[in-house]
Amino acid sequence: MRYGHRYPFTSDAKRRYRFYDSIELVKLIEENEFYELIIKRAKERIIGTLRGEITDPEDPSYPDPEFFRKALGREFDGVEEYSEDFLDKKSKRALSYRDAEILSFALVKLILSCLRDNYLIRRFALREAEYSKKKLEEEREEILVKVAEELGVEIERTNGKYLLHFTSFVKYATKIRGTQEDFTWRLVNRDLNRGFLTLTKSELIRLLQEAIREKIESELPLNVGKDVCNHINFIIDEMRDEIEEFREKIFEDVGEFEESALPPCIENLFRMALEGKNLPHASRFALTSFLLSIGMNVDEIVSIYRNSPDFDEEKTRYQVRHINGATGTKYTPPSCETMKVYGDCLRSKVCGSAKHPLQVYRKLKRSKVFERDRSS
Ligand code: SF4
Repeated sequence: MRYGHRYPFTSDAKRRYRFYDSIELVKLIEENEFYELIIKRAKERIIGTLRGEITDPEDPSYPDPEFFRKALGREFDGVEEYSEDFLDKKSKRALSYRDAEILSFALVKLILSCLRDNYLIRRFALREAEYSKKKLEEEREEILVKVAEELGVEIERTNGKYLLHFTSFVKYATKIRGTQEDFTWRLVNRDLNRGFLTLTKSELIRLLQEAIREKIESELPLNVGKDVCNHINFIIDEMRDEIEEFREKIFEDVGEFEESALPPCIENLFRMALEGKNLPHASRFALTSFLLSIGMNVDEIVSIYRNSPDFDEEKTRYQVRHINGATGTKYTPPSCETMKVYGDCLRSKVCGSAKHPLQVYRKLKRSKVFERDRSS
């Protein structure tokens, strides 16, 4: 039973290259029969990371069917045909399309490790986890269980549902909370029986998605040397414009407000939101109400949350409009004291004796505008 090509973060995938250090792995890829395919897929994974979705060669809508379907059409999996002994000998032979799929994932990890860009790493983990979620949704039961095991999520099948110990639930559910799924992912809303609770298949897969995201992110960046980066720099160069363009776009989309004047607390929440991190409810409220107060409009604020793992445009828009007074009350942003209670205060010198983040923003903005006027 081979599943590494669909879930390249698993040990089943890693057994393909576990004997190689980074430079050997690069050479293995360079000498591989599927070299072009590996590079192409690595680039697709990066583009998917930037644009929002990693394309799936197994999907009928995949734009380059010939290239991949021929390989997919092969009768055997390839890896299955070879014994552990064979793989132990550091075979440089390409084994199949599936092998190339695994190596493209490994190559992207090397590329991101050379770039040392935490924003991209987080986004990559997020997109790969989403990609895996789609695969898991159509997966056989035994593989679903296997992937869960690999992630350290022990489950037991019962009457079409899954039993899970509450510690595993809490570990990942807290990361899912803070989104529209709040209610479902609170332990208090679950029936516990001797420490176990029941999940539906779709809930289990959503939980595994979070576990996958965390696993991929925690393993990066790898400790790669200059020689590795020199070998793969050409790919980075080919992707650089795309990466830069994307980053600029994200940071431009937020309108004309003065980012450099944000107080430390809001600046931190703002960055986290742009990077697609889940913010707890109180932090989301603080960020949204603050940005509305300084003149950002609903569309601009919705776009900030666009990278959240569970972004739902309609719900986000509703929440932002609600804070903006669409249903009667326009909410004001929390004071420094409240920010402190929720653990969002990052008081520093620039805050002075301010009691409200808006005071800090106005003060910093005035001084930034003054500096700009003076130097123009
Ligand atoms: S004191 Fe206020 S403005 Fe300063 S970091 Fe804390 S919450 Fe932000």
